[in-house]
Amino acid sequence: MRIHKAKKSGLLFVISGPSGSGKTTLANSLLEIGEFRGRLVKSVSFTTRPRRTGEKNKRDYFFLTAAEFKNLRRAKKILEWTRYLGYYYGTARDFIEAQMGKAEGVLLCLDINGARSIKRAYPDRAVTIFVKPPSLKDLPLRIQKRCRTTRVDEVRRRVKVAEKELRAAGSYDYVLVNKDLKKAIARLHRIVRSRLSNYRAASRS
Ligand code: 5GP
Repeated sequence: MRIHKAKKSGLLFVISGPSGSGKTTLANSLLEIGEFRGRLVKSVSFTTRPRRTGEKNKRDYFFLTAAEFKNLRRAKKILEWTRYLGYYYGTARDFIEAQMGKAEGVLLCLDINGARSIKRAYPDRAVTIFVKPPSLKDLPLRIQKRCRTTRVDEVRRRVKVAEKELRAAGSYDYVLVNKDLKKAIARLHRIVRSRLSNYRAASRS
């Protein structure tokens, strides 16, 4: 897939992990503490998948029809995109460009294709983090718990994708096992803190 590069500076923290690995909780934890407030912003992607209960348009995703998504893609408004279980997901180029001018880091929750595209396009600025669930055994339950209306066949398909995703973990800069949520949060915060301060120091010199 071709990527239309964003021009501004800043780090791009890309978090991937199977459905139910807890990557969204981990990513959100970064936005909830004062230390990173104003320094990190979260990318809100476009998607054509239906909205889940509790999700908000423009906060969790920009929910679009497939035709709207394709129009944006044609107009080069999408930085990178993927197809996941039949739906389109894509990073909003204007959003990223605007945020990159304001914050030191942008947080993106992407699948393995998205992480690969961003790393390839921004090798020096992308920091890739893979969140692993402690085992595949508990994944169906974790996926179901997150959204009770997720259909059994969708849960099954997500677990199947998870097996493939886990094989890509080795190509990430960091692998984080989410066995104990508190510990996983602390490790993620350490990674982000140290990469941001190194980046800040390098930009000054
Ligand atoms: P979900 O349906 O669980 O919200 O997302 C399905 C998968 O798509 C997850 O792995 C999520 O991280 C990924 N995803 C969400 N937005 C994007 C995007 O803009 N680009 C890519 N490549 N993956 C995305």
